This record gives sequence, structure tokens and C-alpha cells, in this order.
Amino acid sequence: MAWRFALVIDPAASTDPRSDFSDTFTVIDPNAPALSVGELSTQRGDGIFESIGVVDGHPQEVGPHLDRLAHSARLCDLPTPNLAQWRAAVERVAAEADPGESVIKLILSRGVEHGPAPTAWVTLAPAPDNSRVRREGVRIALLDRGYALDVPARAPWLLLGAKTLSYAVNMAAIREAKRRGADDAVFVSTDGFVLEAPTASVVLRFGDRFVTPAPNAGILHGTTQLSLFAHLEERGFETAYETVAADDLARSDSAWLLSSVRLAAPVSAVDGAEKAIDAAFTDEINRYLLTPRD
Ligand code: PLP
Repeated sequence: MAWRFALVIDPAASTDPRSDFSDTFTVIDPNAPALSVGELSTQRGDGIFESIGVVDGHPQEVGPHLDRLAHSARLCDLPTPNLAQWRAAVERVAAEADPGESVIKLILSRGVEHGPAPTAWVTLAPAPDNSRVRREGVRIALLDRGYALDVPARAPWLLLGAKTLSYAVNMAAIREAKRRGADDAVFVSTDGFVLEAPTASVVLRFGDRFVTPAPNAGILHGTTQLSLFAHLEERGFETAYETVAADDLARSDSAWLLSSVRLAAPVSAVDGAEKAIDAAFTDEINRYLLTPRD
């Protein structure tokens, strides 16, 4: 995959709200080396990120993504991001997008070792073609996340509610799911509750009621799930944040993994047991998720 565009932003620059921030952006060659060898994002995964879906040049749900970036920064003791500056950067980068689906990544790193300030950059790339997975679904393997539901509150330094760059565990879980003959994983707490997928939220349907695991400090609050719940409520469905038992995944009428770029991927099997997909409803959800959303 070739990156389409990249911008380095100076996160320590002026906070003048009248500024358009363009003097704090530096366009760089997206396919050339750019980072210092002292970068703590690469040395320690010490930083945070967001992935924003872009549809026909429109970046989706920018406000909720920026709010989550600020939340992650708070949890990681990073300087508060200037959200007006980040929004301007997203708009600048989105203007370069081709028709169709793309992905914008925002990265805020602790900075260069012994350096003076955090570093930050924004990239644009074409999104992978997710049409098949939206149609045919994902087979999931349930994987033990290794902690109980109360651990995030007892050990906040694990940063479990922050979208940090330390995704090696998440990627390892997807590889393990593949070894088990599945496409993706869903993490389960040691006390038997559904958490999230390595790169997606989990939503279950029981009749006209839609449920997702409560986004306490242990999982990310998905922007796609938030947007879908608002849409479902407008259509008269009930939505709820609850503790979800692992067995509920198989028991539910339907289940989806939801995320900003893949959107709604229906769950077609749980630990090898086939699960029915509601293709028509999934299609409706994805049509909604592909409309311009702010
Ligand atoms: N949970 C995790 C661990 C994720 O990495 C992601 C997305 O990247 C999500 C949930 C879903 O979040 P969103 O819908 O904002 O993409």
C-alpha cells in the first residue's frame, strides 16, 4: 500500500484560535523515511493514535475521534492536544483523498528521546477493500485477555482505556485467532465477560435491543458503535451498555465487530460454531455508516 499524503504537525505551536494553523504543518513525502531514530513511538510504542475513515473525501466522526485522542492523551500524561489544530490538519489531509474510502491516521508521540517536545503527524492512505468482509462476515475466536473486569480500575497504569501505539498484543491476538482457523479475535476477561476485538467494538442484537460491553476503563469507546447507537435509537431500537457474558455472543440473534474503516463486519462463527448473519440489516447499517457523519 502506498501512502497518499503525510503532514508533520508541531503540537507545541501557537494556540491562537484565529490561526488556521497552516504554518504549523509541514508536508512530507509519505513514502520516504521521516522519523528520528530516537522516536519514543517506535522505541517504546509510547504515544497514542486515531484511525479515521474517509468516504469520498469526507472524514467521518472527527469530533468523537478528537475527543478520544484528548482522552488518551490525558491517560498517558501527554500534553493536551490542541483540537482546533488537529481538526485543521484532518481537513487539510482529507482534501487530498481520492474518491472512495481512505483512512487518516493521527499520531501523537511522546517525542524524541531527550528531545524537547512531543511529535505528531497525520497520514492518508487508501482503505483496504472491506466489501467482502462486510458481506460475508468474520469468524471469531474468543481469547482470554488475561485480566478480570475490575483490573482497569485497580491498575490504571496499564492504560487499558487509551488508544496507545502499543498494539503488539492486539496484533498477536489476531495471529492467534488465525492459527485457530478464525479471521479475528474477541477478547474475554478472566471472569468471562466480552471486552472488545483487537481493533473493533462488539455489538450484539437481541430482538429489537442492541447491547455493547460498557466502555469502562478496560476497553476503548468506539466512535463507530457510538454513531450506530445514535442511529438505531433514532429508528426506535433500544440500546444499552452492559456487562456482556461470553456466552451471549453465541446466544445473540446477530453480532457485529464495528470499527472506523472496516465498519460493520457481521460475526459468522464463534469458536468454530456457525452463526447466522443478517445480511440485509448489515447492509443497512453499512449504508448508514458510509453516509457523511460528523
Ligand atoms: N477497540 C479497539 C481496541 C480498537 O482498536 C478500535 C478501533 O481501532 C475500536 C475498538 C473501535 O473504535 P472505532 O469505532 O472508533 O474505530
